[in-house]
Amino acid sequence: ETSENGKIRKLYKETTKLYHHILVNTVLGEPALEYLHKRGINDDLIEEFEIGFAPENNILEAFFKEQKLYDYQILRKSGLFIERQSTELVERFNGRVMFPIRDTSGQTIAYSGRLLEKRDDAPKYLNSPETAIFNKRKVLFNFDKAKGIIRREKEAILFEGFMDVIAAYRSGIKNGIASMGTSLTDEQIYALDRVTSHLVICYDGDNAGQNATKRALEIIEPTGKFSLEVIKIPEKLDPDEFTKKYGSEKFVELARNDRKSPLEFYLSYYEQDKNLNNENNQLEYIRDILQEIAKVRDPLEQDLYLNRLAQRFNVAKENLDSQLKQIREKIF
Ligand code: ATP
Ligand code: MN
Ligand code: MN
Ligand code: MN
Repeated sequence: ETSENGKIRKLYKETTKLYHHILVNTVLGEPALEYLHKRGINDDLIEEFEIGFAPENNILEAFFKEQKLYDYQILRKSGLFIERQSTELVERFNGRVMFPIRDTSGQTIAYSGRLLEKRDDAPKYLNSPETAIFNKRKVLFNFDKAKGIIRREKEAILFEGFMDVIAAYRSGIKNGIASMGTSLTDEQIYALDRVTSHLVICYDGDNAGQNATKRALEIIEPTGKFSLEVIKIPEKLDPDEFTKKYGSEKFVELARNDRKSPLEFYLSYYEQDKNLNNENNQLEYIRDILQEIAKVRDPLEQDLYLNRLAQRFNVAKENLDSQLKQIREKIF
């Protein structure tokens, strides 16, 4: 492969092997290996995801020279370096556990690197910048491995973090994917549409994760291409933390049997930070839920939730009905 893109791909291929080798076989990688083991990522998973370690000191330029892959212009466009004064290349990733990000065909096109320990002067996760081969809007972590399983199981599970995808994988749930720490994009939805029509959102149980769930529903629902379910992780944990605390079996049980419809999700979502004994809060809550009911296409489902609301707050269903009609007129 002699095209520029091919050359950049080659750099990523060799770098992935090098980072992986450093993690698995060298003294430099020991702290990172220990870190991963502590997090329950065993050697099989390290192989499976080709996880690596980028050491503190710069190694890539010398490595590429030795591999006869040194071409300054290609290196500076690769995203593996930061260029200083148009003459000097400094490695982007230092002292990070490296998660290769692969395209649909399984080739590494970027990394997400995690610090071993929290630091105030650097982000926990650092992603590769966009390059000629990496468009982060298009990529879903683990999609290359998961897509066949997604087709077979007729659903994909969306996680917030790579660690959650890997924790689920370890539990035997292998149809998990994650976006690159951002909201789902049209391009990612398009890729998913080609393999399934059912999506399950399993984001973190904390407020940020629940807000992200709402955002994801708002992005996915209007496409009309998917049926949707939500898994809520209790105690504000994320899937990885839940698995660590309660074990894989409990996680699988939760993920398989404790799913909510989007409306059920909204029923508890809007209840957050509200005291429903307070009348103003009640009204606000009812309005929030009516807005969501209005978006539901299935009249039977609409009716079901109207009844639930009416009973719960002891209001006449006819009132809710007419409110709903008003909202629907505004929306459609
Ligand atoms: P870990 O368990 O390793 O701490 P996490 O996945 O639980 O990671 P969260 O803080 O829940 O991390 O963030 C979810 C996702 O958002 C991460 O997996 C990563 O993709 C992205 N992310 C988090 N922090 C950053 C950051 N500082 N810069 C870029 N992306 C980030
Ligand atoms: Mn290996
Ligand atoms: Mn998390
Ligand atoms: Mn986590």
